[in-house]
Amino acid sequence: MVTATFRFYEELNDFLARPLRRQSFSCKCARAASAKHMIEALGVPHTEVELILVNGESVGFEHQLQEGDRVAVYPKFEALDIQPLLRVRERPLRVVRFVADAHLGGLAQLLRLAGFDTLYDNHYADSHIESIASDEDRIVLTRDRELLKRRSITHGCYVRALKPEAQLREMFDRLDLARSAQPFRLCLTCNAPLRRIAKDEAIGRAPDGVLERHSQFVTCDVCRRVFWEGSHWRRMRALMDSVTGAATLAR
Ligand SMILES: [Zn+2]
Repeated sequence: MVTATFRFYEELNDFLARPLRRQSFSCKCARAASAKHMIEALGVPHTEVELILVNGESVGFEHQLQEGDRVAVYPKFEALDIQPLLRVRERPLRVVRFVADAHLGGLAQLLRLAGFDTLYDNHYADSHIESIASDEDRIVLTRDRELLKRRSITHGCYVRALKPEAQLREMFDRLDLARSAQPFRLCLTCNAPLRRIAKDEAIGRAPDGVLERHSQFVTCDVCRRVFWEGSHWRRMRALMDSVTGAATLAR
């Protein structure tokens, strides 16, 4: 065994046992244990970690810990530090796509509302989520830290908030989503693109009263439902405007 000293920063502390939070503590590690193994053994999923310093130097997850090592572990998306880097471009280059676990159906719908391709099915097994994430380069969203410890999941996000709207705000803040949002682009049920249709095409597919009052209609080619800017839509629009800020107003 070797003994190393650990210190976790910012929100990573939430994953630790209470007496270990926000302070340095020493911990016995198996000889040749990797930094990743020890960090996860202490309760922190590797997907949440951005930077590991051992004795002041940046190391990778596979770094083998030695007697007396001082290990500092920093979270991903440490907003204050990386915001200036993210902001050098008008829009992020990467296409952000998600797969949400079975408990995050409400969040999945709100992300679709904001235009983010999000797979969700409440029958997905953990192994299925893992393979979707690696095959399709999707970010895993979950409140299950064990899922994020799976080896092949490289991009994941532990969702802290409990209610869908708060979860959506959390994701927008952490992943800097506002500038990539394209609200009302996807069907909330099917995750498929919405298509604008002429009023004629909506006849027989929307109530007569709605056809009299509205002129703009969209449809989903998967479920064939027709949508219009009714009161539900306006409520959703208000939510989108509040999470995206000026980003949607400018478009
Ligand atoms: Zn649909």
